[in-house]
Amino acid sequence: MLGIILLGPPGAGKGTQAKKIAVEFSIPQISTGDMLREAVKNGTEMGKKAKAFMDAGGLVPDEVVIGIVKDRLQAADCAKGFILDGFPRTIPQAEALDRVTKDLKKEVRTVLSLEVDEKELMERLCGRRTCTGCGAMYHVTFNRPKADGKCDKCGTSLIQRDDDKEDTIKARLVNYKKMTEPLLQYYKGTGKIRTVMATGDIGAIYANIAKLLR
Ligand code: ADP
Ligand code: ADP
Ligand code: ZN
Repeated sequence: MLGIILLGPPGAGKGTQAKKIAVEFSIPQISTGDMLREAVKNGTEMGKKAKAFMDAGGLVPDEVVIGIVKDRLQAADCAKGFILDGFPRTIPQAEALDRVTKDLKKEVRTVLSLEVDEKELMERLCGRRTCTGCGAMYHVTFNRPKADGKCDKCGTSLIQRDDDKEDTIKARLVNYKKMTEPLLQYYKGTGKIRTVMATGDIGAIYANIAKLLR
């Protein structure tokens, strides 16, 4: 069972690296951010509840995201493993994940902690562009698409996420420090944590991650 948690601040490259891991290791990327944005887009009850928190750069209540992940982990494609991208983000979420994995007889094998300094995070998030078709991420200078504003993989237009604006990014980084960073301590005790320097070439970072996972 290759259960992986990707831990790191907004902009650390969790989504970018998760997509590469998913392809090579044939396990699904489970992004709570993507699932919440989908719910907002579809106007579901959950989406309506989540939207205000997301727009403000805050965290959606634990019980909402825990429910999403619990359901998702039971899908057939998680039989061999899973990549949690953006979950857990609080201690109660981590505790709930411990319970859920135990109940489902699944296991988190590795917690990858992606490290990037704060100044670079701001530059990355301000310049991030996201494909509305397939969810691929680009950057206006660091990771440009081949054709301006179009996804290399599926040709769909790229957008700037509503929460990738300076004020909201600041709030997200503050919440990361307060609510999510304590998870590093939480997982240190498990012996499962691996630190990855996540600056520089995207392919080189991935090569290090893949080595850790093989
Ligand atoms: P996260 O999921 O952790 O928020 P993303 O994978 O969405 O992070 O990456 C945030 C932004 O930074 C995107 O615009 C992405 O293209 C860019 N990015 C990802 N990895 C790197 C890297 N190693 N160097 C420079 N920019 C990167
Ligand atoms: P980023 O790529 O910047 O790390 P995400 O796409 O993971 O952002 O998340 C976007 C937003 O969705 C978060 O700012 C938060 O409001 C909400 N969200 C995503 N995952 C969680 C979670 N595990 N707990 C609470 N809120 C979450
Ligand atoms: Zn695309």
